Amino acid sequence: MTTSTSPTSSSNGVAERLAAVREGVSDAARAAGRSPEDLTTIVVTKFHPASLVRELAGLGVHDVGENRHQEAQEKAAELADLPLTWHFVGQLQSKKARQARRYASVIHSVDRVSLVDALASDESTVDAFVQLNLTDDPARGGVADRDLEPLVEHVLATPGLRLLGVMAVAPLGEEPARAFERVRAASDRVRSLAPEAVFISAGMSQDYREAIAAGATHLRIGTAITGNRPELR
Ligand SMILES: *Cc1c(COP(=O)(O)O)cnc(C)c1O
Repeated sequence: MTTSTSPTSSSNGVAERLAAVREGVSDAARAAGRSPEDLTTIVVTKFHPASLVRELAGLGVHDVGENRHQEAQEKAAELADLPLTWHFVGQLQSKKARQARRYASVIHSVDRVSLVDALASDESTVDAFVQLNLTDDPARGGVADRDLEPLVEHVLATPGLRLLGVMAVAPLGEEPARAFERVRAASDRVRSLAPEAVFISAGMSQDYREAIAAGATHLRIGTAITGNRPELR
């Protein structure tokens, strides 16, 4: 193992940051009149080495998130000895869907009919969130608000997918609390079609408190726990 001198890639302080976030999540849950046990904190480890994920597992982390297929696939293979649940949270190419299914237990970014079709299976079931785009920019990922219901219906009609609920990323330039109210409204619409799809994947390092206040059940937290992501090379 090489010794890292870069503060951005050091794992020093991970235990402290994890503890601080766990406390922050519990505090926000209680402030919202919710039970911390009802929340799943997914540590987003993208760009960080597998060694950091192993360290997190040693600190009791079960749920980890990645946003790039190849990186996720490699880390999941390297860490196959650990009892981790892998969450895929990034944009997913349809041609990579079947491979992502092999290591990911939960796909948070189902945002179009072609991806649903690519994820279909008669043999196994993968948990899925439908991602809602809260911006007007189609490049951001997520289904447009007006296309939410048709996409949900397609998921429900497709074998091999279990719909958990709705996922979103709060846009830059909008108050997170307002953005998450929109997610909550979308969740209500999803639940009217799929009563079991009660979960909401929302909240990141900067806005998880607002997300918890708005009903988020799955938090995707990266840098607040891992420290800054190493530079891409
Ligand atoms: C990177 C990422 C996160 C975590 O972001 P942080 O700001 O580092 O907490 C959450 N969700 C998605 C979809 C991401 O790509």
